[in-house]
Amino acid sequence: MTKLRLAIVGAGPAGIYAADILLKAERKFDVSIDLFEQLPAPYGLVRYGVAPDHPRIKGIINALRDVLDRGDIRLFGNVRFGEDITLEDLKKHYNAVIFATGAIRDTTLDIPGIDAVGAYGAADYVSWFDGHPDVPREWPLDAASVGVLGNGNVALDVARMLAKHAEDLLVTEVPDNVYEGLKASEVTDVHVFGRRGPAQVKFTPLELRELGELRDVDMVVYDEDFDYDEASKDAVASNKQVMVIDRVLQSWRKRPSVNDARGDADTEGGTASRRLHLHFWARPVEVRKDEAGRVAALVYERTKPDGQGGAVGTGEMREVPLQSLYRAIGYFGSPLPGVPFDKKHGVIPNREGQVLAKDSNQQMTGIYATGWIKRGPVGLIGHTKSDAMETVRHIINDQGSWWHPEDPSEEAIPALLQERGVKWTDLDGWHRLDEHEIALGAPNERARVKVVPRDEMVRVSRGE
Ligand code: NAP
Repeated sequence: MTKLRLAIVGAGPAGIYAADILLKAERKFDVSIDLFEQLPAPYGLVRYGVAPDHPRIKGIINALRDVLDRGDIRLFGNVRFGEDITLEDLKKHYNAVIFATGAIRDTTLDIPGIDAVGAYGAADYVSWFDGHPDVPREWPLDAASVGVLGNGNVALDVARMLAKHAEDLLVTEVPDNVYEGLKASEVTDVHVFGRRGPAQVKFTPLELRELGELRDVDMVVYDEDFDYDEASKDAVASNKQVMVIDRVLQSWRKRPSVNDARGDADTEGGTASRRLHLHFWARPVEVRKDEAGRVAALVYERTKPDGQGGAVGTGEMREVPLQSLYRAIGYFGSPLPGVPFDKKHGVIPNREGQVLAKDSNQQMTGIYATGWIKRGPVGLIGHTKSDAMETVRHIINDQGSWWHPEDPSEEAIPALLQERGVKWTDLDGWHRLDEHEIALGAPNERARVKVVPRDEMVRVSRGE
């Protein structure tokens, strides 16, 4: 029987779902899959993008682990594509490759002052609080007033992980250095800015409601933002998700609130030591700097509905004093050596997962993409499954045009990595690291304590 030797680059949900779907698919050939991952541990964004206080979403790891533990997929962790293994190597040893490398960088925001000291990308902060091995261990949390740009779930994750008291994270897998950093935070006010209105947000009801449940944090919303136009009223009436979001926001309007920079919130009450403000109809225009080049304020233009769900500027500029600012306005994919890349959209150019040559738009044989590097950073983790199905269907149908590798033997890859001095980690190694982290958490009844330094992850995984 013909055999498909398949390489998948990226062991996040996209790569693991693709492997699982292919192994279970009806097909007329055998399959053997090698999964390459640049980090020493698998699960990509579930381990390094989902916030530690979201155990329900982190639970997706259990399903992904079941796939890996079945034993029909080989894992090669701590192997960097383009350095430790190249596209040329893959062509020599496999019939095809799927890139499932996701989108882990922040989209840029081209406004004056965005280069100020204290202006960060959300992805970097997320990587820090999730203990990503390749980011610095320390994060500056010396600002009292912090801004967050964007109205998606990442903006809410960032706002929550800035406003939440560190002690309330102790039951989670938050890394020790992150707990210590958050404990020392001087934050009192977190301001989230959306360029459209409450009926046009991208975040989901569950994530919004969670903000209102934070201990010792007051939610602040502004009456003027709820002056809905017809399109917003229609959205609230016709879309269940928008209806729930509106209901949650409206409930905060009625709460005793606090005095604040915009001066139009209720001045009664407000007993919490921290506040989380939601500003709508606020398009970022400029980051003001102090003499030292640090973030001093956000200048935004007040917008208004355009009647079709969008927003137009009113020309009115407002300023909110801040000492740091996070932009959570979307992720962006990274180019991979030797693989076409669409710089505008941050994805690998493709037709339903079949990768297209850069200039000719012709399908490149043997190369496929799935997940966020295929469709861009939108949708929840579960959406990645249907994406993988589409890509896998093409791989099956393209059987006649796969690569013809020189040496498809399974031994060739470990031998190659060994020869190059790559300290790769495998599935047994992941089990060792997993058990080690769980054991570190056990004395304090914590889910786990993540090992953060890359060399330590590798050492534990390899049992060295
Ligand atoms: P997103 O949902 O696309 O939200 C991006 C936000 O940034 C939008 O509010 C957008 O406004 C705004 N924005 C974009 N460009 C802007 C600009 N130039 N100026 C001001 N605002 C701008 O992206 P995301 O938050 O990065 O999330 C990515 C995906 O991961 C989403 O599907 C999300 O649901 C998912 N996710 C889920 C969870 C969870 O389930 N808990 C957690 C994190 C992420 P417009 O709408 O006006 O364009």
